[in-house]
Amino acid sequence: MEVFNSTDFKLDHIGIAVSNLEDGAKFYRSLGFSSMHVELVPTEKVKVGMFELANQARIELLEPTTPDSPVGKFLEKRGAGIHHICFQVTDIRAVLARLKDQGVQLINEEPTPGAHNCRVAFVHPKSTGGVLVELSEPQSRGDD
Ligand code: ZN
Repeated sequence: MEVFNSTDFKLDHIGIAVSNLEDGAKFYRSLGFSSMHVELVPTEKVKVGMFELANQARIELLEPTTPDSPVGKFLEKRGAGIHHICFQVTDIRAVLARLKDQGVQLINEEPTPGAHNCRVAFVHPKSTGGVLVELSEPQSRGDD
């Protein structure tokens, strides 16, 4: 089993559930954030609006494209707010294998295509202390 340290992980982004991207972006527009990169992620049924921060981490606003999507259900149950945090890793399969071996409950045992041309997988909040955790492995250009 591979061993990882905290310094093998980067904070990639914080995902925030919003019912509408432009409404959700208002506060960030007030700060002066101008360029929101918008992307559809069909696998998660969300429209994603991203603001890149100085340390390469991002604020990711998540607008559900259908009410029965994971983010749609989250909004209905808990309202707008922090939905997940995402760590960037270099070998997502190795991290998932380690977590599985440790008995951690995974939502995705296999990585799926996420925003920004990354492979992602989610870890269940039951196993993380109440926080939905996303793992993301960036794909090198020309790899897809
Ligand atoms: Zn995310």
